Amino acid sequence: MVDTSAVRAFLDEKHVALAERVSEFAERVLVPLAEPPDDAAARLQARDLLGKLGAAHWLDPIRDQDWRACCIVREALAGASPLADAVFALQALGVVPMLLSANEGPRTRWLEPAIQGRAMASFAMTEPNAGSDVASLGARAEPDGDGYVLTGTKTFISNAGIADFYTVFATTAPAKKDKGIGCFVVPADTQGLSFVRPLILSAPHPLGEIAFQKARVPSESRLDAPGEGFKLGLATLDRLRATVGAAACGMATRALSEAIAHAKSRRQFGKPLAEFQLIQEKLARMATDLTAARLLVYRAAWEKDRGAPRVTLEAAMAKAFATEAAQRIVDDAVQILGGRGVLAESVVDRLYRSIRALRIYEGTTEIQHLIIAGQLVK
Ligand SMILES: Cc1cc2nc3c(=O)[nH]c(=O)nc-3n(C[C@H](O)[C@H](O)[C@H](O)COP(=O)(O)OP(=O)(O)OC[C@H]3O[C@@H](n4cnc5c(N)ncnc54)[C@H](O)[C@@H]3O)c2cc1C
Repeated sequence: MVDTSAVRAFLDEKHVALAERVSEFAERVLVPLAEPPDDAAARLQARDLLGKLGAAHWLDPIRDQDWRACCIVREALAGASPLADAVFALQALGVVPMLLSANEGPRTRWLEPAIQGRAMASFAMTEPNAGSDVASLGARAEPDGDGYVLTGTKTFISNAGIADFYTVFATTAPAKKDKGIGCFVVPADTQGLSFVRPLILSAPHPLGEIAFQKARVPSESRLDAPGEGFKLGLATLDRLRATVGAAACGMATRALSEAIAHAKSRRQFGKPLAEFQLIQEKLARMATDLTAARLLVYRAAWEKDRGAPRVTLEAAMAKAFATEAAQRIVDDAVQILGGRGVLAESVVDRLYRSIRALRIYEGTTEIQHLIIAGQLVK
């Protein structure tokens, strides 16, 4: 349930109404879904969830570039099904570079199918030797006639193997470092593009490695003006980092509510856990951290929605604080549930496994701190 009261100052009426509708959907459709038992089942469930999200119009805020609405949808989805949230996140990452591009070609072909949940997106930036230091990526995009030939490996790619298209970052001129990077939309059935292997996480999340072996794409597939691909990637992350924070808040909200319910019903030493001050102190800290995180998240999204050209500082603060706070909140919830909290079937165990990756993807906490400090001292 997305409770808008604490962040109401940053929202319009339409956002409050959206929060009610998407929370009802999450409760009715997502909460009853069983966690997929293995990677193959997770991949099938991800495709199914994409269709459901598209049909219910929950992906529309991506096309509308309504960042507060994206945060509300991610909060609701992540609390109910971290996998559904990952599906939303990847549609956004794959599509936003198209929305920011002056080149209409890929947008015309992929935008509506992606938003309607008929085409699965992916965002391929990370490489075996380029993680946090993405400017050093080595995948090549060699100009060739009226197109480019792509060669290289991308790893840790969400939706690898099940996506319909990949938004790919590759360099046309390695010597120019970040200024040589281009951004290309590559259909999954492109000759020379292959799915190498899945990478299995402790929480269900389709992830894997893809390779380009002389995969030819037409010049219309390039989204950036030459030399601007890296900037396009950063501009995409600028817009979406607050939404990662929102997803973290969604998981933390669910964990807190599980912890409160358990603390009220579980009796030890003759009284409910909720009457012990050590438990009360945990609950108080969890709720305060969560509210602070949500204020940072919606502040960043609101700044972007009202036209701020950049929200680098605000988005980095929101992502770093919210994901770190959510990790602590989920961990405290597990502690309050005691042994029941580490049973694989428990909600908090699932959240515990799911929250961890949010402190890593779309820029680790350390990288967010470097961004924040860089803005402070520049
Ligand atoms: C579940 C999941 C999904 C992902 N999905 C995608 C995807 O769809 N597309 C995609 O392109 N990528 C994706 N990634 C990759 C993700 O973006 C990278 O894992 C992340 O950027 C970190 O890179 P790395 O893993 O290589 O870690 P490294 O860069 O090797 O960092 C390792 C550690 O060193 C720290 N570190 C690095 N540099 C510094 C520094 N200068 N100062 C201080 N500390 C530093 C990091 O913070 C981290 O703690 C995903 C990752 C995960 C876990």
